Amino acid sequence: MSKVPEMFGCHVFNEKKMQERLPRATYKALKKTIDDGEPLDISVANVVASAMKDWAIELGCTHYTHWFQPMTGVTAEKHDSFISPNGDGVIMEFSGKALIKGEPDASSFPSGGIRATFEARGYTTWDPTSPAFVKDGSLYIPTAFCSYTGEVLDKKTPLLRSMERISTEAVKILHLLGRNDVTRVITTVGPEQEYFLIDKDLYLQREDLMLTGRTLFGAKAPKGQELDDHYFGSIKTRVSAYMRELDEELWKLGVLAKTKHNEVAPSQHELAPIFTTSNIANDHNELMMEIMKKTAEKHGLVCLLHEKPFAGVNGSGKHNNWSLSTNTGENLLSPGKHPETNLPFLVFLAAIVKAVDEYQDLLRATVASAGNDHRLGANEAPPAIISMYLGDDLGEMVDSFINGEEYVSHGKERMDTGVEVLADFKKDTSDRNRTSPFAFTGNKFEFRALGSALNIGCPNYMINTMVAEQLSGFYVELKNAEDMTAAVMSLVKNVFAEHRRIIFNGDNYADEWVKEAERRGLYNLKSMPDAFAHFMDRKNVELFVKNKIVTEAEYRARYEIELETYCKQINIEALTMIDMAKKKIAPSVSAFVGELTDTALSKKALSDAIPTSYEEDLITSLSGKLVCFVKKTGELEEAVMGAEAHRSDMLDRAFYFRNEVFAKMQELRAIGDSMETETSSDFWPFPSYSQLLFSV
Ligand code: ADP
Ligand code: MG
Repeated sequence: MSKVPEMFGCHVFNEKKMQERLPRATYKALKKTIDDGEPLDISVANVVASAMKDWAIELGCTHYTHWFQPMTGVTAEKHDSFISPNGDGVIMEFSGKALIKGEPDASSFPSGGIRATFEARGYTTWDPTSPAFVKDGSLYIPTAFCSYTGEVLDKKTPLLRSMERISTEAVKILHLLGRNDVTRVITTVGPEQEYFLIDKDLYLQREDLMLTGRTLFGAKAPKGQELDDHYFGSIKTRVSAYMRELDEELWKLGVLAKTKHNEVAPSQHELAPIFTTSNIANDHNELMMEIMKKTAEKHGLVCLLHEKPFAGVNGSGKHNNWSLSTNTGENLLSPGKHPETNLPFLVFLAAIVKAVDEYQDLLRATVASAGNDHRLGANEAPPAIISMYLGDDLGEMVDSFINGEEYVSHGKERMDTGVEVLADFKKDTSDRNRTSPFAFTGNKFEFRALGSALNIGCPNYMINTMVAEQLSGFYVELKNAEDMTAAVMSLVKNVFAEHRRIIFNGDNYADEWVKEAERRGLYNLKSMPDAFAHFMDRKNVELFVKNKIVTEAEYRARYEIELETYCKQINIEALTMIDMAKKKIAPSVSAFVGELTDTALSKKALSDAIPTSYEEDLITSLSGKLVCFVKKTGELEEAVMGAEAHRSDMLDRAFYFRNEVFAKMQELRAIGDSMETETSSDFWPFPSYSQLLFSV
């Protein structure tokens, strides 16, 4: 292995390569676009394109592709070769125009009905703030995606817009507070990614895993995660080899892969990168998920990114660590020694508290999906109720503000380990709260409700926009203040008093919290359709329209697309279950009952004295269950057909899938799993949970 510093970013057209390969004037012009958002001239693009092409060809590339993030939630690419006819032969060409603009056919990407399929044209435009890279023989150019008529059709454009929006508002506030040195505020994100690794041969024997990413049947293994022996446990050789290669592949692509460890559930792991600018973090997270899957193939493994591949053990999430930093390198969510007098910190904290309270429903909706419905609200992930954790120190500070009391932060205390040879160190000001969906963790907020497979663009553009909206309101309130300190203190006090209900530092898994949250008037939106029932609330539509993130039509399109995806996923799961039930499970159980019957009969034939109670009991039990199983399969089929009557309104359709189809799936599974526990493993048609979870 070459040295990591040399390897890092070797497949990325990064700052260093730009400096080396671009004429000085071109480099300067491009930097102005990247750092200050200035428009890019075509003559500059021509020079950049040519340098990128030469570099990519040196690395063995023959093609380039615009790389974008349509509403499918996965990335898309269409490869064009660099060749251009020249006499009898070809030359390798790449123009500035081709770098800036691509034209993929947009008709087959979800658009939520804002456009008809005959309106096929779509455009991709280069996002120069996210560096191009080389992978699998192609030059990848990160882009934003829109339709011929300008409608936004991707997850990236709103994110880029929201980043500009929050920067503008944050800078205005900082200038009011005398921080004229700041000209740009950047949102930073570090997404911690959880995943499962299972054996590929076993995976290929399970139709449910192949088609839906999760097990639709499967009795619990005798052992689960109760011993807590997997969490942070020593990493097995095969997994370790996988992780090593994964790190290397990611480093080559400039992804700051940093922390890796085993997670709570057996076969579950986590990889966290060092945080970076939101849009790059978004691109890198998409790359990370893709490389995780591809690298697994090379090791005879399959990487499952589904939020709940296995019932009975923890599912996978993605913690979205989010903060704001200035172009001068300061983290605006660092409380400093004395947060109570740190005016910028107080203003930003107040903006976030107000944003999370006013848009709880949106935050809940942005993480809602068929897969994540299995996690939120179960005692493994944050609850479906959105609240914020601030920790003891800030919590006390907020209360003193509200009560008009004097407050002095405790600052950092020293940790005395009580062992001479161990160095003492400074403790963080707050402990962690693992149960909170939106937790302050020292100098950033950690939004923990995301599912593992989610594209982080959406939650991040929502957070950015809702905080920008509050900052713009604060600016209006503060701009004419004569005594700025007094004005800020009074504003912060009012916001804390008004939005105190969203702050909860206790155990989010406790039953009392559900009651308490209800008393406080907080939402408890249990499922995806419940959450989406609020998506189109006027205040939510206006948030995005007013801040020019998406138009009302585009916003509605997103709503339609998400609901449609939800219905389609449950539909696929239901059909897969029916297929497995009819073609595999019922015939296998029937065959096993047949063998039991043969055994019992042959024993009887030999002599009436040989007891057959074992077989007879099992035959009775399994035959009874099989009858019920077949009946439940029929009921599920009927439920799926019943969806036809729920076509016109997407929300109604989603509720139908949740309340009728999904409910029937649960019933069918329960009886199927109970038959599995009684059927000989020689007859059971799929690998068991024990095999799937403990064989790697
Ligand atoms: P834990 O699992 O204890 O929450 P990790 O170290 O696994 O902690 O993950 C913390 C994540 O938060 C990392 O991705 C880290 O880079 C990120 N992070 C740290 N500081 C910031 C910041 N200022 N903005 C955004 N993300 C941050
Ligand atoms: Mg972690």
